[in-house]
Amino acid sequence: MALYRDEGVVLRTYKLGEADRIVVLYSRGRGKIRAVAKGVRRTRSKFGSRLEPGSIVQLQLYEGKNLDIVTQAERVVSLEAMRSDLDRYGRAAIILEVLDASAVEAESNPAMYKLLTGALRELDRDGNRLVVPAFVAKYLILEGVQPRVDACVRCDESTNLTTIQISEGGVLCRSCPGGEPLTDGARRALEQLLQGRVRHVLDTTPEVVAIELETLVAKLVEQHVERKLRSSSVLYEQLQ
Ligand SMILES: [Zn+2]
Repeated sequence: MALYRDEGVVLRTYKLGEADRIVVLYSRGRGKIRAVAKGVRRTRSKFGSRLEPGSIVQLQLYEGKNLDIVTQAERVVSLEAMRSDLDRYGRAAIILEVLDASAVEAESNPAMYKLLTGALRELDRDGNRLVVPAFVAKYLILEGVQPRVDACVRCDESTNLTTIQISEGGVLCRSCPGGEPLTDGARRALEQLLQGRVRHVLDTTPEVVAIELETLVAKLVEQHVERKLRSSSVLYEQLQ
């Protein structure tokens, strides 16, 4: 069996048998992988709590026939502040869920890995509620599905943009009916996040706009993940 090392983020774990756990990881070198951590549920496990969701770990694994086996795991950073604060941990959980739901197994994406670990580190440093919107904006860019927010998706009008129609991929102007209301503050903040002006948005966005953005990006990402899952299951059925 081949032994390999990689760095990864624990997305999720679930029980296997009496003492083991399956660990779902997003790794730098191999993208999403599933591995077995043996004996991890015993009190004297050598992994301790290092394989909890949200941990960034340096790993050593054996390539198994079906699942790889974790033989070593060391935390790269403690992320103690993120771990001990319910709000921050809840935000981290959203980020982990997005990747768990949408990442394709064994498809390496170093830019996505950098985005994921950067967002977790930022949540540890500053629990700002805009970290999730900033993550989602960059995530949608990396997935090639960023919404259009600088002009109406139907008629190209660039003023009086008052609603967003997620299914059409962006904002609508006052003359084009439909969509959900969107304040100009939230639209501009999202536009700046999509332009990569993350620091500026984190420093200047008022709380009320941040709350609106949180709800909006949750809908944007949900729509993308659902579409992706649907198209991959269609592909899967065609291959049967
Ligand atoms: Zn329009």
